[in-house]
Amino acid sequence: MLDLTTIKAITLDLDDTLWPIWPAIERAERALENWLSRHAPMAAALFANPAARHEIREHVVLTRPELKYNLSAIRREAIRLALYRSQEDPLLAEPAFDVFFDERNRVTLFEDAFLALEFLSSRFPLVAVSNGNADIHRIGIGRYFRASISAQQFGVGKPDPRIFHAAAGAAEVQPSQVLHVGDDATLDVLGALNCGMQTVWINRSDHLWAHPAVPHETVTTLTELCDLFPR
Ligand SMILES: [Mg+2]
Repeated sequence: MLDLTTIKAITLDLDDTLWPIWPAIERAERALENWLSRHAPMAAALFANPAARHEIREHVVLTRPELKYNLSAIRREAIRLALYRSQEDPLLAEPAFDVFFDERNRVTLFEDAFLALEFLSSRFPLVAVSNGNADIHRIGIGRYFRASISAQQFGVGKPDPRIFHAAAGAAEVQPSQVLHVGDDATLDVLGALNCGMQTVWINRSDHLWAHPAVPHETVTTLTELCDLFPR
């Protein structure tokens, strides 16, 4: 059960909480492939091989551990490595990444997301907390948020308590006054519980809860999340 009386701010996960992420990533990867096939066909051919693509990404992850929380940089460096290995111009990594990133931010929000953001932001300061590289301003939802904290800019990601503390700080409240909402049991719910926040787990796909610590509430939609609060 939530204690509504202590909630002074809401922190919100983005990917798979406000929109499904995989359709956007798949579209973005296709857009990148199309762009490469026109501007760097040898690199496009290399990327068309799933094993080679996987190996290139792993190579970047292993050799550049400092990029662990920076998905954009990992993506950009993987493109650069593919260009280099296929003897195409590595400088194309920047425009190629931009093609990917534009499409990655062209997400389709869950149908109740705008109403939920409207409702929640009229009652509480909202802070976005994401391990991904979504840009709330490009997506067109920046106006609902007091702040947005990404692992990429902050340097560590969920479930590290530091990013939750930073999110509470951005709303100028204590973690105990925050409700964190997200779809990921470990990153969102356990991370926020560990930091003393109240939590709502968004479980759209009927997953089983498999941890001893439990969320304060579980909902299946953002509308249900709003229904937890008096109108
Ligand atoms: Mg998520």
